[in-house]
This record gives sequence, structure tokens and C-alpha cells, in this order.
Amino acid sequence: MGSDPLETPVRFIKGIGPKRAAVLAEHGVTTARHLLYYFPYGYLDLSAIDSMAALKTHAGTGNLRSAVGSVRSIELLGRPPRQRLVIRLEDPTGQVHLVFFEGINFLKKAFQEGETLAVSGRVTKFKNQVQIVHPMIDRLAPGPEDEATGPGEPRGGEGFLHTGGIVPKYGSTRELRDVRLHVRGLRKIMREVIDTYLRYVPEVLTPALLQAHGFDGIRDALSDIHFPASYERLEQARRRLKFEELFLMQLTLAIRKNLLKNGLPGIAFKIESRLARALVDGLPFTLTRAQVGVINEIAADMREPRPMNRLLQGDVGSGKTLVAVAAALIAVDSGYQALFMAPTEILAEQHYGTLSGYCAPLGVKIRLLTAATGGKERASLLKELAAGGPGIVIGTHALIQEDVLFGRAGLVIIDEQHRFGVSQRLSLRRKGIQNDESGAPVGVLQPDLLVMTATPIPRTLSMTLYGDLDVSVIGELPPGRKGIRTSIRFEKERPAVYQFLRDQLGEGRQVYIVYPLVEESEKLDLKAATESFELLRREVFPEISTGLVHGRMPAEERDAVMASFKRGETRVLVSTTVIEVGIDVPNASVMVVEHAERFGLSQMHQLRGRVGRGADQSYTILMAPDWMRGKISAASGAFAGDLAPDDALLSVRRLVIMSETNDGFKIAENDLKIRGPGEFFGTRQSGVPGLRIADLLTDGELLELARVEAERIAAADPQLRRSEHQRLREVIGREFRELLPLTQSG
Ligand code: ADP
Ligand code: MG
Repeated sequence: MGSDPLETPVRFIKGIGPKRAAVLAEHGVTTARHLLYYFPYGYLDLSAIDSMAALKTHAGTGNLRSAVGSVRSIELLGRPPRQRLVIRLEDPTGQVHLVFFEGINFLKKAFQEGETLAVSGRVTKFKNQVQIVHPMIDRLAPGPEDEATGPGEPRGGEGFLHTGGIVPKYGSTRELRDVRLHVRGLRKIMREVIDTYLRYVPEVLTPALLQAHGFDGIRDALSDIHFPASYERLEQARRRLKFEELFLMQLTLAIRKNLLKNGLPGIAFKIESRLARALVDGLPFTLTRAQVGVINEIAADMREPRPMNRLLQGDVGSGKTLVAVAAALIAVDSGYQALFMAPTEILAEQHYGTLSGYCAPLGVKIRLLTAATGGKERASLLKELAAGGPGIVIGTHALIQEDVLFGRAGLVIIDEQHRFGVSQRLSLRRKGIQNDESGAPVGVLQPDLLVMTATPIPRTLSMTLYGDLDVSVIGELPPGRKGIRTSIRFEKERPAVYQFLRDQLGEGRQVYIVYPLVEESEKLDLKAATESFELLRREVFPEISTGLVHGRMPAEERDAVMASFKRGETRVLVSTTVIEVGIDVPNASVMVVEHAERFGLSQMHQLRGRVGRGADQSYTILMAPDWMRGKISAASGAFAGDLAPDDALLSVRRLVIMSETNDGFKIAENDLKIRGPGEFFGTRQSGVPGLRIADLLTDGELLELARVEAERIAAADPQLRRSEHQRLREVIGREFRELLPLTQSG
């Protein structure tokens, strides 16, 4: 290393000084390699650009046309409500008026005289003037006074036109523009980088792969992605680069899966478990077929002398907890500890309660370890855990603190995985050191791992996030559930909503009223929830016992309220989203979601999963502001259509989706569409490197291909020792290091 030209710091690249280098670094670009992989977000087809004169001949045809020109003037014309902004754009052959009726104030300041714009839209004529109303606009170059080359340069952007054909557009931010790395500046630098450094880029894909799928060589692909000779070449380049990205990730996951499975010895549990049998026999209901099937899959995996790595998927309410308990009891029966990690304290406490109920009759010891576990208690618990007892330990992140050691960790269960990261998964694994009675380590046995998630995951995502796990799915809900009716109600209808709640309470049901709480506005949100609670308690339901829980109250107080709600004494529970995950009170069959427009889809689905757990008809009422009224009826039944890139409309769409389906998969897919994969699971936290060019929404086929090829190579050469895999080994070591278990070196 050190001599790799691709590692050249950007400040040594022609055209980049220390200032530009500093700004680029803020965007994660520090080396020549980073620049080569700083891909355009779009392209401009300059071969299809009209001169102003040509544009004129299309006026009134309704055709979509494009033109490039420089801004001659920016003027407000007319008075409200007929006020409009007119930008006159010119080239040597003529002029077009760009006319705006909306966003005038913003647009007026957004552009400057002299800057070069590419515009497209339908050309019309108004009083003999050629115009485009609300065109799409790309900024190509700043005005002459901003530009180093100065006003001597011909207007109309000769500087980029001479590159001809298809021209890349690079994302440029305000900071980048401040150092004149606007679209055009970046383009010049890219040209330089391609000319100088492309030759050093090694081919990582094997000749066999390139040939089998007709992929371009990496240098052609990189050159074409920045400066495509044609749209066909561009498509080829994109396909190759997307594949590479997906393939490297899948290969990493496949290798990781192999290492976790075969790299270290696991525990061969005896799966004829008296305890698990007793648990099932003692239940007041029978397991669903899906539950039985999944328990069998897990048991078969636990019997193998290799560590289990399994994802358990099942919609909210499908009964995952019981499956987890059965697995835990198998581990306990073989003399091991089962660790159960929950994402929040409330949930850990609830699991502790539920599991105690199941396990106490069986004589299995259970402990709880959270941040709230006090000093003395904690110290003695840690001693007990290190010595290999007791049977089941439930906890939060507190379980993965460094001083927490487990003498006999056999099974690690992680509930609601998406709150935990891949690396946290690994640190729990590393707790699997086995000690003998005196506490001395006797060897390293990897505990089995069971990850549970309630959010159904579109396949493309689960292949990426959980590509290293085997998957079990609980595909049905317990019988006898009446389902959940979801409706949207507006502020105006609030009195009717309260009447409905009173009726339901009169029939013995319990009610959740949920308020949004987000970090940025936490104080305000808490205040809103607290004030509404007071109002509800005093004025709306004075005769009914009402409780409040939120994440900021002392644990004891909160526990007392929750316990009272569980016992059915508190009938109305006002809460912030702390109840989102996992809370289980079957008699609570009505939920009101306040400010539903502020919730994300998966979050609402999780919330809604709190009702519909008993035999009664359940209801979810999504409260929306009055202004949404018309928009919601317009959007109903049409949620599969194009998404408007506008927050307000997205929130309308979310509510409509919620009211139209209970299907967790459909909801997850729409959520993925709306938020994009990055945010869907907070992938930044979960340690899966962001995809630069591949798109999990649209590149499913390439992803499948990448997976097949990756598994083939990982199976044939699990350590990538073969000479034709050396390059792959290098890239993976460099780019995906954090995804590989640290158990293997060299
Ligand atoms: P999940 O964690 O999958 O959302 P839970 O494990 O909390 O679901 O189970 C939801 C509810 O269904 C609990 O009250 C649980 O006791 C109950 N339950 C689980 N399995 C069954 C079953 N086979 N038949 C009836 N009720 C069940
Ligand atoms: Mg659960």
C-alpha cells in the first residue's frame, strides 16, 4: 500500500487546491478513487437540445423540448393574484420566457443574471412570445461574475457544449459551489481524474464473470458512467457498476455467513426438551401450524454443531415471543444460558413479565438486566451470569456492556432487530466464551443466534441486510382474530371520535391514545401529550381511569401505569411512541393515533399491531388535520401510483395506505418506496455500507444474480485464497471490513 495511485489525496489532483480538497473531504471524497466513484446523478442530452430559434417552431405543438441559454433578466410581472415571475433565457438565436406562478419568492432569489440554465418543458406562445410555464431547470454554470474565466467567455456555455453529446450532472451542494465546484467545475475535474487515474483501476471481477454476463471491463464502465458516448454505453456501464456493488456486498455476506457457520465450533443442543414440551402443553391455546413449523426449523438448526444464524420474521401479533421462549428452553435444557435482548427498557420488562409467567411454573430461573438495574443488584447478577447461571437473561443494550460476561451463553435472541446494528449482533456473539466452574475459559463455542423482526421486509432488503442469515417466517396469525378496522378522522370529527371511545369503553374495552414524539421537537411533543392527557382525564373521560406513559418519566412510575393498564384497571392509556414495539394487552382493542400525519408507515403498522390481539373487533383511528380532508378522498384507492415528492402529499398517502391495507408486506414495500432503503432500516446504524448506484427498489434482478454468483464463489473458495480471487479479497478487506467477523484473521 501507500504506492497505489488511486489513493492519491485529492489535493494533488490538478484543479483541486487545499480549499476545494477540504470541502470535498466533508463530502467523504478524499482520494482519486473516491472521485472516480463519485457518480453523476443524471445526464443532460445536449444532442437533443434546441436552439431558441428551433424552440420557436415547436411553440404550441405540446412537444416536450429542451434548451440551454443564459439568464438575461429576472422580473416580477403583474400583481397578485395574477403575479408571475418571468426569467428571460437567451442564446445567440433568440429568447424564451420561463414563466412561474408558484414559488415566485424562492425562485426570484434562486437564479442570477448571466448564469447558464438548461430547461425543458412544453413550449407555448403567449402574445407572440415563446414561453415555457414551470419548466424543469438544471443549473449548468454560474454567472460570469462568479466564474474564474470571467465575462470574456461566450454566453450560452460554450465551455460545456464542446463536450457534446451526453453530459454528466453531478450533485453539487452550496459548500461545493462556494469553492466553484458547481456542476461544470466538477465535470472538469472528473475529466482530469479519468484521464490520469483510470488506467490504475484494477479489474476485480473474474474473467469468467465478465464473460458469462457480458459485463464491461471496469475502466470502460467508469469512463462511460462519467462521459458516456451514447445511452447504450451508459446503460452498459450502469449495469456493470451496479452489479459490482451488489456482488461485493453479497460476497461479503456469503463469506461472513460461512465464517460464522464453519469458522468456529457451535453447540449441538439436545432438542428433545422436556421444558419446551411442558411449555407447549401448558398453553391455553394451541400453536399455529406456522409456529410449529418455525420451532422445528429452529430446533433442527440448534441441533447442528455449528452456530445458528437465523432471522425470524413474522407480522406483529403472529406469536414470535412464544417461538423464542421455546428455543430458549431448548438451550436451558441443555445446560446453557439463553440471552434475550430487547430494544427498549419497557419491552425488556414486559418480556421479563411474560417469560416469568411461562417459565416460573417450569422452575426455570429468569433475570432482568437493564440500565435501571441498581449497583448492588447488578454486581451480584454479573457474578451469577459469569458463573453460568441462571437459565434465561432478559435485557437491553446493558447486556453487551464490556463487564457483562456469560459463563454458559448458548443462545442469543435479539428482538426487533432493526433497532440493533450488525456490529451489535457481533458483540453479543463474542460473549460466547465458555467458562468452567471456576470461571476459567475452557474454549470458544459460538452461541446460536436468533434475530426476530416484526417488520416484514421486502426481499431485496432482507437479502442485503440479512444476507448472512437463514430465514424462518411465521406466515399466519393465530386464529379467531377479528382483524382491525382502520379509519381516518379529521379534527372536526373529534367529538364523534370521543363518543365512539366512550361506547367502546362502555363495552369493557380499553383504549390507547398515542402521540408522536420525535427527538427534534421532543419538549413540545411531550408537552402536547401531557396537556392532552390532562384534558382527557378532566373533561373528556372524567369517570374513567386514565393513565399517561412516556419515555421521560421515572421507570417506576411508568411501570406502575403500564401494570395497571395490563390489569385492566387503567382503561385509557395516553402515551408517546414508547408503546410502539411489542406491548401486549389483548383487551385493548381501540387505538387513536394523534397527528397520524407525522408518523412513518412502518411505525404506524407497529403501533396498530398493539390492537387486534384479542377476540374483539379492533379499531384504529388515525387523526388527521382538517386540511387533508379533500386530499385524502382524492388519493384513496390510488396509492400504487406515482409518489409526489412533497411531504404533505406523502403524509396523505401514508394515511391512505394504512386505511386500505393491514398487510405488513404491502406496507413495508410502500415504506421502502417512500423513504428509500437507507432510512427504512436506519442502515447507517446497522453497518451495511450505502449503495452508491444500485437501487434496491429497481435492481432486484441484478441483486438476485449477484447473490447467486457470490454464493457460488464463496462456496468454492470460502477464504478467497485462489489467485483469481485476490482482487476480490483486497476490495472486500478494504470496503467491507466492518461486516466481517473479527474471529478470522489472515
Ligand atoms: P409478536 O411478538 O409476534 O408481535 P406476540 O408473541 O406478542 O406477537 O403474540 C401476540 C399475542 O398472541 C400474545 O398475546 C400471545 O399470547 C398470543 N398468541 C401467541 N400464539 C398464539 C396462538 N397460537 N394462539 C392464540 N394466541 C396466541
Ligand atoms: Mg414481539
